[in-house]
Parts: sequence; C-alpha cells; structure tokens
Amino acid sequence: MFSRILIANRGEIALRVIRACREMGIESVCVYSKADEGAAYLRLADRTICIGGPSPAESYLNIPRIISAAEVANVDAIHPGYGFLSENAHFASVCRDCKIEFIGPSPEAMAKLGDKVECKKIARESKVPVFPGSEGAIDDEGEAVKVAAKIGYPVIIKAAAGGGGRGMRVCHNEAALRSGLKQASNEAMNAFGNGSVYVEKFLEGARHVEIQVVGDKHGNAVHLFERDCSAQRRHQKIIEEAPAPLIDARRRDDVAKSAARLVKNAQYAGAATVEFLMDERQNFYMLEVNTRLQVEHPVTEMITGIDLVKTQILVAAGEPLPFKQRDIKINGHAMECRINAEDPARNFAPCPGTLTTFECAGGPGVRLDTHCVPGYRVPPNYDSMIGKLIVHAPDREQCIARMDRALGEMRIEPIKTTIPLQQQLMRNSAFRAGGIDIHFLERLLRN
Ligand code: ADP
Repeated sequence: MFSRILIANRGEIALRVIRACREMGIESVCVYSKADEGAAYLRLADRTICIGGPSPAESYLNIPRIISAAEVANVDAIHPGYGFLSENAHFASVCRDCKIEFIGPSPEAMAKLGDKVECKKIARESKVPVFPGSEGAIDDEGEAVKVAAKIGYPVIIKAAAGGGGRGMRVCHNEAALRSGLKQASNEAMNAFGNGSVYVEKFLEGARHVEIQVVGDKHGNAVHLFERDCSAQRRHQKIIEEAPAPLIDARRRDDVAKSAARLVKNAQYAGAATVEFLMDERQNFYMLEVNTRLQVEHPVTEMITGIDLVKTQILVAAGEPLPFKQRDIKINGHAMECRINAEDPARNFAPCPGTLTTFECAGGPGVRLDTHCVPGYRVPPNYDSMIGKLIVHAPDREQCIARMDRALGEMRIEPIKTTIPLQQQLMRNSAFRAGGIDIHFLERLLRN
C-alpha cells in the first residue's frame, strides 16, 4: 500500500481524500494556491505545499509545479480529485514517467474513453445502449445529411473532444445541419485542438441517469447502480439521488451491467461514471464516460456502504476489488444538494465573500462534505460550490423530508446560496412525485 499521497486539488474534495488517507493510515500531502492559504481544511493534511498563485493555470492546473511538489514530498501517488487535472491523460502519463502512481485510469484508457467517438465505438462493442447516429467522426456534408435523414431530426452535432457542455449544436433541419457542420468543426478545432465531430439523435425531455462503475488492474469490473441527476440548471447538476425514482429494476440492471462490461473491455482500472439520457419509455442512450470520481459520488456511498475514494486508492495500489458484484446491494435512498455560493435573485451569479455565520445541519442520516468553517473566505477564483449536503433514509419520501429538515438547519451568512431553491424543490409536487426531466428546473425558474 502507498505510504504517502499528494492531493492535487482543493476544497471539499481535497478534504474528502485527506479523510480517506487518514483512515487508511496513509500520509496526505495537500497542495494549495495563494487563494487557499490558511484554509482550515489544510490543517487536517499531514503536510501542505504552496504551488503558486490564485489562478488555476499558476497552481491546480500547473503540471510542473504539482510534480515538483510530489518529488519534494516524496509521495507514492497523486489523487487528482475531480475537475482540474483529473481527466488530463497527459498529466496521467507525466505521473507515470515520474514513477508516481496516478489514482485513476491509465492514460491510454482515459484517452480512449475521453474521446467521444472512440468511446461510442467501445460502447457499441460492449452492447451499451448509445444514441443512433453516425458510426464515427463525420466530415462529409452529404454523409451527415444521409445519417440525419435516417435517424430523423432534430439531431445534434457534437465534438469528439468536447467537454463541459461546449462544442454542441442542435439542428432541426437539413439546412441547419449543412451550415452547422463546418462551423462546429472549426469551433471544436479552436476550443479543443481537435476538429473531429459526429452526429447523433437529439432527445428532448429526457432524464439524466448515470451508472457508477469501478474496475481493477486484474480485469474485474463491477457497477454500483445508478444516480439520477436530472435536477439541473444550465447543464449543472444541483441535486442528485440514488436509486433513480420510478425506474424498472430489470431495465436498470441491464444497463448497469452493460456499463460494467464497457469498463472491463476498456481495461479500465479505477472509478468511472457512464452517463446516460433516458426517455419516457425508459430507453437509455449513453452520453459519455467520466473517467474520474464525480462530485455526486457520496449518494452511491450512502446506499451501498462502499467508500469510493478508498476503493480508488486500493485499486491504484494494485489490489483487487474487495467486493464482487453480488456483494453490492442497495440500502435505502440517498440525496445530495450541492450548496453553491450563488445568488438566485441575480441569475445565480457567483457570490464569493466571508462567511460570518456557517452553521451545519446534523442529526440522523445527515452528512455534510464541506471545507467551510465560520470566518472562511470563499475565494472568487474557483467553482462556486461550497459544500454538499447528503442525506440517507429508508425510502425516498423520508429522504426528502430529511433533506428538507437538514436544509432548514443550515445557516450561512451573509452570502447567498442555492439552499432556498433546493428547499423549494423538496416541497414541489412534481419533484416529490419523481421522474422530472432535465429541463424541469429551468421551466420552474422561468415561471
Ligand atoms: P459534455 O462532455 O460537454 O458535458 P455531454 O455529452 O455530457 O457533453 O452532453 C452535455 C449535455 O448536453 C447533456 O447533459 C445533455 O443535456 C445535452 N445532450 C448531449 N447530447 C444530447 C443528445 N443526443 N440529446 C439530447 N441532449 C443531449
């Protein structure tokens, strides 16, 4: 097992990894930027190293500085968290060249699944349900028009290297597709250095359902069931839950098994999430694979009792998965609210500042993953998420009641947060009934 791990991240996820290390008897070394200097969570690491200025380019995205810190601290492995360098295959290969274990997949597996065209190919081979569309990348206009005629409009043009919701274009007719293709390819080239695009069916009114999977270096792969993340605003998830409400168990199990097969076929070691859209008839279509730990991983931990961060560390160290598929069971229902420092009255503009009051929810079935403490200054340089409130209960109804209660116990001043919106959702009849689609929240906010 590793004796020392460097954490190349910040905030709540850095703290999450520090906690896993502590319980495993592994020393943690946490890097930080000048914007995070003095933050309370850093005191919980065994060692901290300042790697540069507030901008991500100077610190959390700066590969030479992170590698220098890892060499100075003489660590065995690096945990990238999520965001920043977590899905950067070049970083994973630099780690390998420096003989530091990257806690995540091999650069090859990451690159293969990170390219949407390649990923879709392996998915098809693994019998994972995918959107109908072009077989691979497409640059010929005539070819694209033929594909679209076959699958029917609307279609979506997507960039093979796309990410963060960028590089996509919905086309409702042939003229739009013809003019969009070249533009999309140029945009993708400028944004990602890869102009490769493909065309697939565009699905309206779908739900976002994703499968958590994990593989090891011995060819084992299992799934840990699904999460429903349909409560979104501008493609950003704000509430996640597991299991997904109102879903046929047989259908769910088939898709979950296919996701585990995909990971196995890609020779993937580590945690990953296979994201799907699901239509009203419960047909699944794969969106993409995220080759890292997700923000919403705690809901899966709560219903399965499996610690995903410890599992990532074990697998990276070469251990076989400590459980088999048949050992993994769903217990109760879990839900997570992402608490963002944003002002709902100002169109969710980020709301950084100093927390004069920060009182946490507690009691049965409540978990709060946050790096915030009273007096903490939320820096303006990073993502606006300041914590995640997670609750677990025997069933969905009790879970919603518990979340409503826990949200009500949180007191955060003077900055504005997403909590009032999340409380509103806990009391909304459509949300309570289950099965809202990914546009539900935007519709609610418009009215
Ligand atoms: P990214 O890597 O940029 O996040 P995704 O493939 O995950 O790209 O797509 C981002 C979002 O775009 C999805 O969550 C979904 O809302 C929408 N989307 C992508 N593909 C489709 C599709 N074929 N039909 C409908 N919506 C889509």
